[in-house]
Amino acid sequence: MIEKRQFYISGQWVDPIEGHDHKVIDPSTEEAVAVISLGGQADTDAAVAAAKAAFPAWMTTPKEERIALLEKLIGVYKARAGDMAEAISMEMGAPIDMAKTQQWGAGFGHLKNFVRAAKDFDMIRPLGDHAPNDRIIHEPVGVAALITPWNWPMNQITLKVGAAAVAGCTMILKPSEETPLDAMLFAEMMDEAGFPPGVFNLVNGDGIGVGSQLTAHPDVDMVSFTGSTRAGILISKSAADSLKKVHLELGGKGANVVFADADEKAVKRGVLHCMNNTGQSCNAPTRMLVQRERYDAAVEEAAAAASSIQVGNAHDEGRHIGPVVNEVQWNKIQDLIQVGIDEGAKLIAGGTGRPEGLNKGFYVRPTVFADVNNDMRIAREEIFGPVLTIIPFDTEEEAVEIANDTPYGLTNYVQTQDGARLNRMARSLRSGMVEMNGQPRGAGSPFGGMKQSGNGREGGVWGIEDFLEVKAVSGWSNEND
Ligand code: NAD
Repeated sequence: MIEKRQFYISGQWVDPIEGHDHKVIDPSTEEAVAVISLGGQADTDAAVAAAKAAFPAWMTTPKEERIALLEKLIGVYKARAGDMAEAISMEMGAPIDMAKTQQWGAGFGHLKNFVRAAKDFDMIRPLGDHAPNDRIIHEPVGVAALITPWNWPMNQITLKVGAAAVAGCTMILKPSEETPLDAMLFAEMMDEAGFPPGVFNLVNGDGIGVGSQLTAHPDVDMVSFTGSTRAGILISKSAADSLKKVHLELGGKGANVVFADADEKAVKRGVLHCMNNTGQSCNAPTRMLVQRERYDAAVEEAAAAASSIQVGNAHDEGRHIGPVVNEVQWNKIQDLIQVGIDEGAKLIAGGTGRPEGLNKGFYVRPTVFADVNNDMRIAREEIFGPVLTIIPFDTEEEAVEIANDTPYGLTNYVQTQDGARLNRMARSLRSGMVEMNGQPRGAGSPFGGMKQSGNGREGGVWGIEDFLEVKAVSGWSNEND
């Protein structure tokens, strides 16, 4: 059993002051693989004090030096890619090959994009020729609490740490208690890269403990949170008392609108995208809207695609999907599959229970429901498992109406070969992102949502801006520029 009870505070690994033990479970086997410590108020206070003390010097460190440290971090992150993939795979069940590529790779991409975006970012800019003595200064917000979930752990940690670091914020990371090992490995990398003590701190804890202590802490200036809408609401309320800046990346229930003229791989691509990472992605296209002329064929193709997906142990190599993260999620997904059956949706692949031959581990059968109505719970709630719902539609207007009829607004998808329709749809869908015909968003593109999917954007220049205040200065001396 791995024992990793310490926290990383002010450049040192330190014993918890008020910690209590917490077991990390491997979802492929249901066995405990590590023990960590969940901290308490005194641990939170120590980490916040370290970040506060480090802020004045880090804020005035030239941007070029901060970028150079991030570049060093990228080197260390690359050198330890194998260790990182193994930690992620063991803790949250991403199959090892997928952990090495997509999970690790997401973090690598974000860090590189921040370096590029930061190099081009002017921290001091003129307002315009009409106001020659005005300057706009971008200044770090201050001490940032970074609270992250377990589903794409390095994706989310690098999106926050990379942006906060180049912006000049100091930070306290509280990773998900489900995936603390990859975060601790990341803290080792920050240390090896040589970030000054106190710039980056890590305290493990749960939401009720360290999570709420950070969001209520008087010396924390900003909270950047990724996770459930439920926790996002609690965090916003808690942060309101001290009027902190709050950035939220929350859940989603993305529509994937497949028009009759979509390319022939569109349905299969949509199914595989929905099931990727065992359906545990906030931007998963979980509602497939199919135009009536294509509907029957699409239902058949979707059933075949889902039935062809292999499910297996995350430690095995290959292109299967792994288990879901834990027993709570497994039970929640089982309940929602049953709800779908009870509501009268047509089960065309998968169903309740474990896939054949898998008796231990939090494995779920890749499941598809056809003839779903957008009012059903399986069309409204984020299931966060490998479960797809298929909804028929007749006209473009109806598709837009169904797609937008959701409390969420993270990513929507469109499949059609009609260029004018693509662009109309991109404008009509109420979401932070729209991806069309399987084309992924470009490097450094902003990630984030509308409505109950959150606020703010992560990644690239927009991600950096979220950690910055804007200061307007008049009377600037151009002689001393
Ligand atoms: P969660 O909200 O329960 O936990 C996320 C993090 O918040 C964890 O670190 C947890 O300890 C902490 N937390 C929980 N309650 C808290 C509170 N009251 N105060 C402070 N911290 C608290 O979510 P999860 O189960 O870890 O993650 C899955 C959810 O995250 C899904 O709903 C998914 O859609 C969402 N998600 C959204 C995005 C996005 O970018 N929009 C990305 C990934 C995951």
